[in-house]
Amino acid sequence: MLLQVPRVLVLGGTTEGIELAARLAARSDLVTISSLAGRVGQPRLPDGLVRIGGFGGLDGLLSYLEKEKIAVVIDATHPFAARISRNAEIACSRLGLPFVGLLRPAWTKSEKDIWHDVPDVLSAAQFVDKAEARVFLSIGRQELHIFSDCKDAWYLIRAIDAPAERLPLHHKIVLQRGPFDLERELQLLRDHSIDFVVSKNSGGAATYTKIEAARLLGIPVVMINRPAKHTLSSVASVEEAITALDDVLRLHWRD
Ligand code: NAP
Repeated sequence: MLLQVPRVLVLGGTTEGIELAARLAARSDLVTISSLAGRVGQPRLPDGLVRIGGFGGLDGLLSYLEKEKIAVVIDATHPFAARISRNAEIACSRLGLPFVGLLRPAWTKSEKDIWHDVPDVLSAAQFVDKAEARVFLSIGRQELHIFSDCKDAWYLIRAIDAPAERLPLHHKIVLQRGPFDLERELQLLRDHSIDFVVSKNSGGAATYTKIEAARLLGIPVVMINRPAKHTLSSVASVEEAITALDDVLRLHWRD
């Protein structure tokens, strides 16, 4: 008789998702399936099994979890990916599945940082779009269209893949994938005489160097605050997520 092992779904698209998959795929007491939304043309592929693309809303996710006999869901998506987290929480609660939310801590402002906190991307666009302003826009591709009505400032837009979205009138695109080195970030901001950095408060180390560079150069950062994500309690690191997973497996999984 084949020994059944629990199947763990890791909702990823983040550094934590990659790290979790690397740790869990090495284990023989479970099977790990990572899920990516499919936004990036050539994503970094996690270890273990991988599926790519949306599930088709809450109903699609419910069917997927049942069909694939998922035992536990770990939500390691980005702090700004709120919809998938909400769907995952609801789906797990409806099916009675354990859910582990992993949310990396937000960056906090130090004394030398000049931050202007805004609640969302639209507020950031309204704040920076001033004549003569030179703006470093590093928020990914998906919400760039919110800047498309900006006609006054000049934007240096960084993304992994070339944006297909409508863009602000005056701009230049640089295609780069993190993590980014501090020296290069300093150079980028200096070379383009940047006046404002626009950033999501993503947290984590991979993109923090732009915040450090802005601090060192005395450049204000328009910091977009996080949306509400998990309603259940969450953990803050890969290590804690693995401990939480082992706890729920001990409690819920009987072979
Ligand atoms: P979102 O607004 O929460 O989700 C939008 C839709 O994308 C979801 O309803 C779902 O489609 C699909 N989706 C999202 N994450 C998925 C995943 N891991 N696997 C399968 N489908 C997923 O998310 P988002 O802000 O568009 O982010 C998409 C992905 O990019 C996430 O995996 C996230 O970790 C990663 N990411 C996002 C950001 C950011 O700034 N938002 C930054 C870095 C990485 P269905 O409803 O069809 O299931």
